Amino acid sequence: MSNLFIDVEVAPEAASDPAVAAKLAEVCPVDIYATREDGSLRVVRENLDECVLCRLCIDAAPAGTVTVRKLYDGGAAI
Ligand code: SF4
Repeated sequence: MSNLFIDVEVAPEAASDPAVAAKLAEVCPVDIYATREDGSLRVVRENLDECVLCRLCIDAAPAGTVTVRKLYDGGAAI
């Protein structure tokens, strides 16, 4: 499934950290983040366009490791 509006980027060191991945999965109200069996992060791409731009993921992760982009706005980060 394609997404037209939103993309998220998570730095590899954050995505591979089970504590960060679990936190992201917990805070996102629309389940854009999930964890794999090994505890690493999985971005649930089919949910991306449900993003409500709440910034909870950005605040929950180490500074600078999560970027949420508005693809409809030239890719501007929120
Ligand atoms: S900004 Fe909010 S809704 Fe969007 S991915 Fe982050 S936590 Fe989820």
